[in-house]
Amino acid sequence: MNFRRRNCLVGHHFAVYYKVGGLLLWLIIIGGCTERQLIRPTPQMDVSERFWVRVLLLDNVTGCTLTAPSPFGVINAQTRSTEARFGQPGARINVNVSVGGIAVGGQLVRSGEVIIFPDEPYIFNVNGNAYRGKLRLIMNADGRSFDAVNLVPLEAYLAGVVGAEMPNYWEPAALQAQAVAARTYCLYIKRHFGSKRTWDLRPTAAHQVYLGVRVESAQIWDAVDKTYGQVLVCNHPGGTEDIFPAYYSSTCGGHTENSKHVFGDSFEPLVGVACRYCKDVAKPKFFFWAMAQFDKGNVSAKLLRRYPKLKQLGAIRNISAVRQSNYEEFSRLTLVKLLGSTGKSDFLRAEDLRLTIDPTGNKVRSTICQIRSMGDKWAFLSGRGYGHGVGMCQCGAQGMAREGKKARQILLYYYPGSEIVRVY
Ligand SMILES: [Zn+2]
Repeated sequence: MNFRRRNCLVGHHFAVYYKVGGLLLWLIIIGGCTERQLIRPTPQMDVSERFWVRVLLLDNVTGCTLTAPSPFGVINAQTRSTEARFGQPGARINVNVSVGGIAVGGQLVRSGEVIIFPDEPYIFNVNGNAYRGKLRLIMNADGRSFDAVNLVPLEAYLAGVVGAEMPNYWEPAALQAQAVAARTYCLYIKRHFGSKRTWDLRPTAAHQVYLGVRVESAQIWDAVDKTYGQVLVCNHPGGTEDIFPAYYSSTCGGHTENSKHVFGDSFEPLVGVACRYCKDVAKPKFFFWAMAQFDKGNVSAKLLRRYPKLKQLGAIRNISAVRQSNYEEFSRLTLVKLLGSTGKSDFLRAEDLRLTIDPTGNKVRSTICQIRSMGDKWAFLSGRGYGHGVGMCQCGAQGMAREGKKARQILLYYYPGSEIVRVY
């Protein structure tokens, strides 16, 4: 069904229904108003479970609020019965942990797992953010909190990723390359990690940023649709061809990095390539970033909390580069040695050091930098690039697209030795 909505602040309106070739076109014609938003139907609601993505939206919460633009059902996942339906579009419904189950709008569902299933266009809103598909509420073992997981078909998921990972005014070829990389990465993470847990990916840069319906636009949907079902594959040991973790990051700084040195996995398309494209696209303050300083006591505390094996080191007294990738104009640190006050030392991947000290990555933007001791502070100097640097350089993809390169050329440049195939 095409679901076309016009928003209007003033004026008369009336609805006209046309039945055309089996498609119901719902036109709301409003005098004097311009069209602001096109609500797309949610594709693939009938696709195989293999192509649904489970995104951990809320982690260990005791409650949330729900609204939906259409009626929705509340299903007991254990008995598969619909225990309640809420029919008033837009009504705010509270969800809370309760004794023996989860209460939705005051109705207790005696189950460790509850599914919220909206009617067409299959959109719901949790804590103010709209997503497509369904919402699964999973009670934690202690019975005091739950996780909220968005079950969403892959193509609908991608619209909420591509729109979050790139500005929608970027070149169509860059957006399409982003869609293929994100589709491949998602399926790889789902297959390799999803079977061990109740969800596949987090909606953050820890995996890939997913913001749901609010980042969708005609340009973003166009990129998803034009690459429908396309993923990247490469040769794996044993001669099979299969997907690989198609990592990508914002701005490589001039050369992408070998995945082996950052994430520890080896795939032919992830060995690293020179990139002359991101420098003119990235904002100068992101391409060359300012010195960042951190209190030494805080750095020790953060590292020991995140990595208990480092406790034997005591306070961190020295941080030195052990391994780095050298390119023409710069080096990227990949492994550092930490020397502690007890005289013991240990090693840490530079990317892990960076994200432990600065989890947002907003100050220490990459490991293309030098680490110096400055009094009671650690300083990160001569910084360049943004992100881990493995796989496609997003600003570089935009730079290539501006030069007229197609999505396929961008992908095969940043993932050399890969091929594009369709999974459906
Ligand atoms: Zn680059």
